[in-house]
Amino acid sequence: MFRNATFVMSAHELQDLPPPGAPEVALAGRSNSGKSSAINALAHHNRLAFVSKTPGRTQLINFFRLVGGGLLVDLPGYGYARVPGPTRKHWEKVLSGYLQSRESLLGLVLVMDIRHPLTSLDETMLAWFGPTGKPVHVLLTKADKLTRSAAEAALLGVRKRLAELSPNFTVQLFSALKRTGIDAAEEALGSWLGIGPTKGNERRESSSAPTEGRKARGRMDKKAPKRDNEARGHRNKKAPSRGHEARGHRNKKAPS
Ligand code: GDP
Repeated sequence: MFRNATFVMSAHELQDLPPPGAPEVALAGRSNSGKSSAINALAHHNRLAFVSKTPGRTQLINFFRLVGGGLLVDLPGYGYARVPGPTRKHWEKVLSGYLQSRESLLGLVLVMDIRHPLTSLDETMLAWFGPTGKPVHVLLTKADKLTRSAAEAALLGVRKRLAELSPNFTVQLFSALKRTGIDAAEEALGSWLGIGPTKGNERRESSSAPTEGRKARGRMDKKAPKRDNEARGHRNKKAPSRGHEARGHRNKKAPS
């Protein structure tokens, strides 16, 4: 589903966004959570999401076109310890504005390092997005870093918390390194976009493969995605060159 995705454009301000049209799926997560690796694993592309990490794009909303016509939106990683206050404020405004009011956004994928899930900033994202009533699918990444039982325990803990927040919030285990969880993620996101999963993308998963994606599908509208001519006109729009602030800080520890 994400194969052959191509970079379209970047936006730094809400007014830079392409007019809403093509269905969008956005990915967000703390910096270093494994978001880029997850996107690359889903796209079967080693460098796709690292476009978002090139200088000048680190704090931009980056749009990628999916072959099926939808858009994948890579939101800037949050939680940099040393982002100056004004920059952080700006990004809070842009991110919350995007999440709360973007009509063409179908759902949010929230990427969390399985060893540090549900940080206060993750909770903030859920609080911003929850009221839209749209689905959130959490990828607990780097699942390979834990034993199976520890990963299962983390999964249950996060699932419990999400259930308190909304019946539309789902979670699964994921590992870009081991390439596990890809089919389940495709299934969950495909249900939002109205696209069936491409099976057989990954190594065999354990019996703990999550099933929420399937459950979620039953609840979703299976609208066929519209062609995204609107966004196409913006393909060549030049990316603003701000956003250097966080460069060099991406490996810094986020505030707890
Ligand atoms: P981002 O800042 O959220 O985009 O995170 P990255 O994708 O750049 O990943 C941050 C670090 O975690 C890198 O060193 C990755 O190699 C590592 N990483 C990402 N995904 C996995 C995973 O599934 N398993 C393991 N073991 N490491 C991962």
